[in-house]
Amino acid sequence: MRNTDINIKDYDLIVIGAGSGGVRAARIAANYGAKVAIVESVRVGGTCVLRGCVPKKLLVYGSHIAHDLEDASGFGWNIGSIEHDWVKLIEAKNNELDRLNSIYLNLLSKVEIITGFGKIIGNNEVEVNGSIIRANKILIAVGGKSFLPKIKGIDLCINSDQALDLKALPKKIVINGGGYIALEFASIFASFGSDVTLIYRGKHILRGFDADISNLITEEYIKNNIKILTETEIISVSKTNHDLLVTLSNNEEIISNEVMFATGRVPNTNGLGLNEIGINNGSIGEVIVDKNNQTSINNIYAIGDVTNRINLTPVAIAEGQVFSDNIFGGMSKVCDYENVASAVFSQPAIGVVGLSELEANNLYAEDGGIEVYKTSFKPMKQTLGGRDTKIFMKMIVRKNNNKVIGIHGIGDDMPEIIQICSVAIKAGATKDDFDNTMGIHPTAAEELVTLK
Ligand code: NDP
Repeated sequence: MRNTDINIKDYDLIVIGAGSGGVRAARIAANYGAKVAIVESVRVGGTCVLRGCVPKKLLVYGSHIAHDLEDASGFGWNIGSIEHDWVKLIEAKNNELDRLNSIYLNLLSKVEIITGFGKIIGNNEVEVNGSIIRANKILIAVGGKSFLPKIKGIDLCINSDQALDLKALPKKIVINGGGYIALEFASIFASFGSDVTLIYRGKHILRGFDADISNLITEEYIKNNIKILTETEIISVSKTNHDLLVTLSNNEEIISNEVMFATGRVPNTNGLGLNEIGINNGSIGEVIVDKNNQTSINNIYAIGDVTNRINLTPVAIAEGQVFSDNIFGGMSKVCDYENVASAVFSQPAIGVVGLSELEANNLYAEDGGIEVYKTSFKPMKQTLGGRDTKIFMKMIVRKNNNKVIGIHGIGDDMPEIIQICSVAIKAGATKDDFDNTMGIHPTAAEELVTLK
């Protein structure tokens, strides 16, 4: 029953979800003078800060130190026996998340933060904790959540949220999936010393990435003792005395301490009331919006992963900024989704921007074609360090106009390198522009200005 008499407050904007996108939109709208409330059921920060990019990268840093320690003897270091304290790492990571949470709270000093689950009950009304709040505009920024297939024993398995808070490092872990999260966590656990098996239903992991990236990262993972079973699915998981028994589609069985599913993410719209008020959504529940982030109800908007466009933090932030600049700042911006760079924080890491060779060929084969430049070499550090790993870089150039239309690479510094390459690509740089640029020696990135 709706009780419209209690606690009715009026706002210019109610944002539902205090993740990266929602916080940006709320903060910018408030800076323009709007009266803004943000509704969040957990803590301010969202997936990226609390359960995704940030804690994951802290664990990547932590696990990567294992490689440095292993390689140190080649540089004359005599390191005795060393051990890692998982519990201490998780505590330190959680302290950092608390710090970031308070920074986010400070960012929202002009915004009213309402803790509770927000349900949209009318075009201008949101119900939270049994009270109703009203606003001229509502912004849905609730993000996504892990998708877990319905297999027998799925309740015994963990997702990435839980993997970030395990009480102990698993001796053995099976990870299902061949995408970003599966690869990142496989490296984290393997570098800390877990025995890792990656199960992937397809033929080549990282579907949609350039084929060279997929093939070469597979080789690197195998060198790092990560077992990869492709064209395989997990049929069921059951409990043994202390461990889990994983039954695979090829009839193999694996005993493991943990089984993690990294099988994609879906919009987090359960209970939000979208169907009841008639907001159009797509096949996985994503809120359908136009280029102005407007839903099928004209004062209700959506940004970020809940719209399932490009599910990356910087994209959600950009969408939040554009939304508030337009609605409360009188501007008419549109988000630019072309050449969005991304990274997989695997070990070694992957960075990509622009078209893959296949995509470029499909687009330009009959329109002048493309040229592909590749290089692969041992990182200088490993001449003494001794680690068996390679850096790989690939540049795709359109023949007609000499423009660089894709750069893909594998190597520890690749996310940093590709971030800056994406500026060049967005600025329309040609292969000649790269060639006319002096390198910095000795670096890995200089290879990109000397590709032959
Ligand atoms: P991805 O979409 O990257 O990968 C999902 C994987 O799970 C794919 O390999 C997919 O196989 C497989 N899969 C899906 N459904 C099933 C199923 N029913 N049974 C078996 N396997 C299945 O999703 P992630 O969960 O890794 O990450 C979600 C999103 O989060 C990413 O797409 C990205 O946008 C974002 N993200 C970004 C990061 C970054 O920027 N570094 C890091 C982490 C996440 P198939 O290929 O056959 O579809």
